[in-house]
Amino acid sequence: MPMNVLKQKLYRTQLNNQGNTMRNLALLSRWQWLDERRMAAMQRQRLSDLLIHAYHYVPFYRQRLEEAGVCDGFSVNLDRFGRLALLDKADIRDRLDEMKSADLEERRWYFNTSGGSTGDPVRFIQDKEYADWTAAVKLLDDSWSGRRMGDRQIRLWGSERDLLVGRESLKTYVGRWVKNEIHLNAFRMTETQMDRYLRTIDDFKPVQILAYADSIDQLAQHAERTGTPAHRPRAIMTSAGTLFRPMRERIERTFGCPVFDRYGSREVGDIACECDHHEGLHVSVPTHYVEILGPGGRPAAPGETGEIVVTLLTNYAMPIIRYRIGDLGAWAEGKCPCGRSYPLIGQLAGRVTDTFVTRSGTRVHGEYFTHLFYFQDWVKQFQVIQEDYARIRVVWVPGDRADGRAKPGERAISDIAGKIRLVMGGDCQVIFEERDDIPPSPSGKFRYTLSRVAEAHFAGENAGT
Ligand SMILES: [Zn+2]
Repeated sequence: MPMNVLKQKLYRTQLNNQGNTMRNLALLSRWQWLDERRMAAMQRQRLSDLLIHAYHYVPFYRQRLEEAGVCDGFSVNLDRFGRLALLDKADIRDRLDEMKSADLEERRWYFNTSGGSTGDPVRFIQDKEYADWTAAVKLLDDSWSGRRMGDRQIRLWGSERDLLVGRESLKTYVGRWVKNEIHLNAFRMTETQMDRYLRTIDDFKPVQILAYADSIDQLAQHAERTGTPAHRPRAIMTSAGTLFRPMRERIERTFGCPVFDRYGSREVGDIACECDHHEGLHVSVPTHYVEILGPGGRPAAPGETGEIVVTLLTNYAMPIIRYRIGDLGAWAEGKCPCGRSYPLIGQLAGRVTDTFVTRSGTRVHGEYFTHLFYFQDWVKQFQVIQEDYARIRVVWVPGDRADGRAKPGERAISDIAGKIRLVMGGDCQVIFEERDDIPPSPSGKFRYTLSRVAEAHFAGENAGT
C-alpha cells in the first residue's frame, strides 16, 4: 500500500475514533447544497436551540434575552434578534464567569485565548463539540480548494504558543506526519529562512499551502526579488489578515495557482471561505450566523461596508452571541454560480481598527494609506498609525540599496503627507519616523494601518440600536 494511502487511512481512523468530525463533515458536505429556503429554516432552528440553551444555562444572556424580548425560555422570537445587545471583547474579558454554561462540567471543555490587536489576550471556553465542528468546516473548506483529506499541505503559520514552547511534542510530530503536514514558522522570516522555506516547498511539493496572507506575500516577494522559481501547488489558502488585491495578484503570479481566502478567528473558528469561483467568501451557515451592521446597528445593504457581527452556533460551553469580532465587510451583491446558497461576503475590508475615522465621522479605508506606499522603493516596511483624530504617525523602515540605506526625497514625503491630509483634513498633523524594524502585533499578524480612534468611535455609533 503506498505511504500516502496508508496515512489517509490512519488519519480517517484517528478522526473517527476521536469524535464527530467525520460525521459533521458528511453533514456539511450535504447541507452546502440545500436550497435557500431549507437552509434558512435549518439555521433558524440551530439559532433558536442555542438561544434557549443560553437562556437556561448562561446567566449573562438570560437577562439580555429577556430584555430584548427574544426568548422567554420556551419560545424564541427571532424577529427581535436585532434588538439583542452586542457582545464586546471586553464582556468576554470581564465577565467570563457569567458567560460559562451551567452544565460545563458535563462537557469536554478547554480554555483558548486570542491575541487581540491591543495586546491583552482574551481567554474563552470552548468544548469538544465545537472543536469537532470547527475541524469539519476546515476539511470542507479544504475540499473547496481542491485538497482532499491527507493531501500534502505546508502551513506557513505561527502562534504565540509555538514561539513560547519552541519545541513540539512527539505526538504533534506524529500527528503531522499522518496528516501529511509540514509547518514553517511565519514568525521567523529572515532572508535565509525564506530561502530555506522555498526549498522545503520545492522538495515536499504540497498540494496546498495554508498561510497568513502577509507571510505568503512576503515569501512571494522574496521569490520574485531573488528570481527563485517556486513549486506550483494546486491552491494557496490564506487566512488571518486582509488579502489586498496586489497581494493576491503577486502570490498567484509567483506560485502559479489560485488563492482561496478564508476568514475566521480564534474565538469563533472559520466563518467563511471562497469556493473555486472566487466571487466572495461563503459563510458557513450551519455553524455561524453572520450579520453585517451599518451605522446605528441596522443591517447593511449588499455592497455596503459595515461591522461584522457573529453568532457561533456550535459552542454551547460558552455561547458567543452577536459578537463584534472587530472586522469590517460587505455582503456580495450577486450570487455565486457554484450553486451553494451559503451567503457571500463580497469584500472583507480589514479590521475595524484598520479604518481611519475623522472627527466628523468620515471613514477612510486603511487601503487608501497602503496605496500611498506602492512603488516607493525607499521603503521596505511601513505602518500608518492614527493616534488621534488629527494626528497620524508614519513609521517606516528604509529599503536596502547597494550604496547603503535608501533615503526618501523631500518630495516623496510631502506628497504622502499631502495625500493623507486630503482625506483626514488640512489640519491633520503627519509625523514621519524612521526605524530599524517594525514588530508584528502580538497575534503575529502584521498591521499596515492601525487606528487608535476607530474602535471607540464605531462602538459609539453602533450603541444607537
Ligand atoms: Zn461559490
